[in-house]
Amino acid sequence: MFDVMYKTDGIGLSAAQVGMNIQLMVFNPAGERGEGEEIVLVNPVVQKATKKKLLCYEGCSSFPGIFADVERPASVKIDARDIKGARFRFNLSKLPARVFQHEFDHLQ
Ligand SMILES: [Zn+2]
Repeated sequence: MFDVMYKTDGIGLSAAQVGMNIQLMVFNPAGERGEGEEIVLVNPVVQKATKKKLLCYEGCSSFPGIFADVERPASVKIDARDIKGARFRFNLSKLPARVFQHEFDHLQ
């Protein structure tokens, strides 16, 4: 999935976008192999989202060339598992929160 994501100049990709009906997403806000952090989330759940929302210009590799302002919570607290099944929780804000919420929408 990271290969597909980098080849399409994406910073996130959900399993649904590559024909897999599973709750899995990958993302790397840096958008470059070898830079930033490659994150893999299995069965992600949003535990909490801030009331504060931000408007941001978004695109999607499933709809090339189409961009729009999308309003989303500024930060989210998530619960997920890694690819080995270990459960973890963390808070995301700024670009990682935006990417996570975009990919999470694909999974819903
Ligand atoms: Zn998308």
